[in-house]
Amino acid sequence: MSIDLAAVAAEKGIKYFLISYSDLFGTLRAKLVPAAAIGGMMKSGAGFAGFATWLDMTPANADMFAMPDPESLIQLPWKPEVGWLAADLVIDGQPVAHAPRNLLKAMVEKAAALGFEVKTGVECEFFLIQPDGSAISDPADTQAKPCYDQQALMRRYDVITEICDAMLELGWNPYQNDHEDANGQFEMNWDFGPVLETADRHTFFKYMAKSIAEKHGLRATFMPKPFLKLTGSGCHAHISAWSTKDGSNLFADTSDAIGLSKFGYKFIGGIMHSAEALCAITNPTVNSYKRINAPVTTSGATWAPNTITYSGNNRTHLIRVPDGGRFEFRLPDGSVNPYLLQAAIIAAGIDGVTNDRDPGERLDINMYTDGHKVTGAKKLPLNMLDALRALYRCDAMKEMLGEEFVGSYLKLRTNDWNDYARHLSTWERETTLDC
Ligand code: GLU
Ligand code: MG
Ligand code: MG
Repeated sequence: MSIDLAAVAAEKGIKYFLISYSDLFGTLRAKLVPAAAIGGMMKSGAGFAGFATWLDMTPANADMFAMPDPESLIQLPWKPEVGWLAADLVIDGQPVAHAPRNLLKAMVEKAAALGFEVKTGVECEFFLIQPDGSAISDPADTQAKPCYDQQALMRRYDVITEICDAMLELGWNPYQNDHEDANGQFEMNWDFGPVLETADRHTFFKYMAKSIAEKHGLRATFMPKPFLKLTGSGCHAHISAWSTKDGSNLFADTSDAIGLSKFGYKFIGGIMHSAEALCAITNPTVNSYKRINAPVTTSGATWAPNTITYSGNNRTHLIRVPDGGRFEFRLPDGSVNPYLLQAAIIAAGIDGVTNDRDPGERLDINMYTDGHKVTGAKKLPLNMLDALRALYRCDAMKEMLGEEFVGSYLKLRTNDWNDYARHLSTWERETTLDC
């Protein structure tokens, strides 16, 4: 049954709708539409010049329309007169194949055709910093081992609980908030769910955290490594797959040593098979590679993986299996596009289960300290260009995500890399002036 958004607006006191989409780089683009005009927008969509955003388009492209998904409606808890709507992109009535939310929906359908649904939870880590971005917001937050620091957490009580109260009000079932392993860094967790719901919520969470931080005179950043000497911001994903026939958890097998089914191992095998290429999506920025392969911090770990390995309940690997029936994918970082993250997980998983990808032996060692003792453990890419090249070469990802998406994505991200490569840094001048 279609939802009458004008009626919803009248009932809930919504005066404006934000018709919003996420471009390839995860930037949210929106039009603010008065409630009186929402009926027309539901029919024909909100018009955008696609080339003005991070999509693979030129000024010669026809107008692009963002079609709001009424199921995605979220009334802004901090500004209830506004309703946020995630939108899908169309040109000439056809879905834009490389648009992130469209791509995710296509992957969900592929999984459904194979009889399963993927559910995920994401762990959003972020820093609260000064509005000018120069430093963390709390000058007293200086402990060498700051993880779970109660005093520092409570100094940010007002911001954290305003965000958490909002999630409670929205029915997301948030269940914990903590001070993370870097000074100024926090993490907030809510329930896992179907991938499209998680991607919409993840997208909205970033917008909400930034908006509420701004209200408090602060700034929230999800940049993977804003401060070189501090632990970076990951975005771990907890993944499970469920049968569409009988609702059972396809990853669970109590007879296995770590509680994982053969289907689960193959899914992991798919992720490991394409891990280098996946980095281009899960770790999409130049800065992402300052988190992966970072030197061990004062707290004794970077907590980010640097090898393509999996383990039981051990945080030094790409994949951790904390208990049966699910696994944690520790690679993604805060700069990941929430829709592309989920699309990439499903794509790699389908490749794994349909091509019987073998993840190899489980390694239950500390990869930070003993990784060098393992022969054959592949390393993750050291920079964005290596990751982009891996995606370019990856047949599995091209087949699953489609040449159109991969081509467009590589084009835009390679431009990004080229911009960076042409940038003359202070480090470079200082180390090379006297050559
Ligand atoms: N901040 C760490 C990372 O970059 C993760 C810490 C944790 O395990 O929660 O992945
Ligand atoms: Mg964490
Ligand atoms: Mg985690």
